[in-house]
Amino acid sequence: MTIESRYHSLRCSFRTAAEKSRLDITSLKHPLVRAPDGGDLYIDIASYIPLQARAALVVVSGTHGIEGELGSWVQSEWLNQWRKSSDIAVMIVHLANPWGCAWARRVNEDNVDINRNFIDFARELPVNDGYANNWPSLELDRWYTDAQAELDLPVLSWAAKDGFEAVQAAITQGQYLRAEGLFFGGQAPCWSRTAITDHIASRLGHLSNVVLVDIHTGLGDYATHQIIVEAGQDSPHLEKIGQYVVSGSSGSVSAALSGTLSGMIGQEVGFPDYLGVVAEFGTLPPLDVLRALRIEHFAHFSPHPTKEQRDTASRLMQAAFAPSEEMWRETALHAALGVLNGFHSALTTTL
Ligand SMILES: [Zn+2]
Repeated sequence: MTIESRYHSLRCSFRTAAEKSRLDITSLKHPLVRAPDGGDLYIDIASYIPLQARAALVVVSGTHGIEGELGSWVQSEWLNQWRKSSDIAVMIVHLANPWGCAWARRVNEDNVDINRNFIDFARELPVNDGYANNWPSLELDRWYTDAQAELDLPVLSWAAKDGFEAVQAAITQGQYLRAEGLFFGGQAPCWSRTAITDHIASRLGHLSNVVLVDIHTGLGDYATHQIIVEAGQDSPHLEKIGQYVVSGSSGSVSAALSGTLSGMIGQEVGFPDYLGVVAEFGTLPPLDVLRALRIEHFAHFSPHPTKEQRDTASRLMQAAFAPSEEMWRETALHAALGVLNGFHSALTTTL
């Protein structure tokens, strides 16, 4: 799939699947930005909310832009095979960061990582000393190809000094200091956060029992998956998902995170009983993923990127967040459908 066609093609397949399942679709148009071909960008939200529903399953894709390719396939495929229950509402939030998906970036149009943006901006912003002290080891000041070993040297020497876990935490926990840096959490709630939270509150705010699954890629071993619990550690629904659950991001291959969509939306809307998880599908080793992010970041902010730079960035991002290998796609899709079916049936049986 080319960058130009990815967003529109995913959107078209999703809307077809949602219409076939007779879901109600709301399309939230991005007020400011457009796709590379000049087309409008939307978050499409498909809902099935029966009057007697007491619980809901919410499934989100594309919080991290380009990662939405897998999430979108999962959502469309799940709608094709899902069996409605009049007790359980379902809401599918398609491509939460449509600009990032359309432009093959992980962040939004303002370089904001939406999954670090769900913090209270009225309070003091989280401090990330690791990033503040080491950003020159991450943000490139000149072009490297991914074949140049010296690209990794600053990161490796930082890891030798502070340990790999400290480096991973400094990189991935988010930072609120450098607006043009990596994993920037923003300076105010972004459009996606407000639009999605308001929609969930207005349509599902009356329900007491809600499970939200946010689908991501790029963390963990190739073609494996895990469920990272961001809110609701004690939820009985987790038993259904079994051995893939890690309790909280501190026990997973992810560093401890704050300001995540799945972690905070339940609290923002005020659901009494809320479970928020990230379903992570592994691709490449962490250093390879980081290499892709650093190179793409440089190419994006370069005033005049060459074609070679743009092509390299695009190839690396694709490999790190939306692999094209059939085996990876099939494995991830199968596992993801199992997770969604597991949570849907868990909600049905615990009512
Ligand atoms: Zn992600």
